[in-house]
Amino acid sequence: MSDTHTVDAEFEAALQRFVGREVGPPQQAPDEVNVPMVRHWCESIGDENPVYLDSGAAAASVHGQLVAPPTMLQAWVMNGLRGPRRDSDNPYEQMNQLLFSHGFTSVVATNCEQTYHRYLHPGDQLSMRTVIESISPQKTTGLGTGHFITTRQDYFDAAGELVGNMLFRIIRFRPAATPAPAPARPRRPEAAMTLDNQWWFQALNDGELRVQRCTDCRTLRHPPGPMCPSCNSLAWDSVVAPTTGTIHSFVVVHYPVVASFDYPLPVVLVDLDGMPGIRVIMNSTDGPLESLEVGARVRIEVRDANESSADDSTRLPFAIVEPI
Ligand code: ZN
Repeated sequence: MSDTHTVDAEFEAALQRFVGREVGPPQQAPDEVNVPMVRHWCESIGDENPVYLDSGAAAASVHGQLVAPPTMLQAWVMNGLRGPRRDSDNPYEQMNQLLFSHGFTSVVATNCEQTYHRYLHPGDQLSMRTVIESISPQKTTGLGTGHFITTRQDYFDAAGELVGNMLFRIIRFRPAATPAPAPARPRRPEAAMTLDNQWWFQALNDGELRVQRCTDCRTLRHPPGPMCPSCNSLAWDSVVAPTTGTIHSFVVVHYPVVASFDYPLPVVLVDLDGMPGIRVIMNSTDGPLESLEVGARVRIEVRDANESSADDSTRLPFAIVEPI
């Protein structure tokens, strides 16, 4: 096997000859676009848009009839559990064998882009053609050295009209000889900061947990937002939260493990004392897990969440279960 960073010009040229080739015959969708599959999709995705399942609402919409969620495009022509046919004379398989014989034995899907030319309706019968769209020069990534391969799937209806397409990119790579050393504990994911909530995080970094208050009707609200849910006023200020509360609910996270945190990881929802209905999600790192229970009293502290990076800290509320 050649050195990881050496480029074999003959091999690279052979690889590029696969670009533009069609991968096998067109593939037929096993079923026409149909409402039962749309129903299962909408239930699993949680999409309640009535134009997908409610004939009356769909008829009154700009569509004039039921339509399928555009993101189902790929689902209509998928191979199912048996997977794709593996013909050894298929250009895609030949390309894979060439890559495999040069040590590019691993594969990771990297991204996918879909384009929709029209909405699909129940009764549409799709077929799909796949073309090898592009193969990148050799590149070295954190995973190893390899080639990005993009295929383009074109989807057609029964009349041969192009209804959408998909660019699907993978990297075929040689696994790095030695895995990268494990980094020191990474910082926590940054808070999802917006124009509406950055003041709240800034107050925490100044050492205060604060709660937003409508200056017209005095209603408290949390999490921060631009408008009072009681009187629709956009005028607000904030008050310092009490330092005690009661556990309203909690979860203990075991999986997935993110390297920034210790596990098991308790996440606590605290009812603030003296502020009915105001609950704040907090960390809880002190004390045994058994002390966490609904109704337990907690003391609230604002602490650095990234204990090892004092120069660029993120401060967050922590709930400590203890007799108050
Ligand atoms: Zn108000």
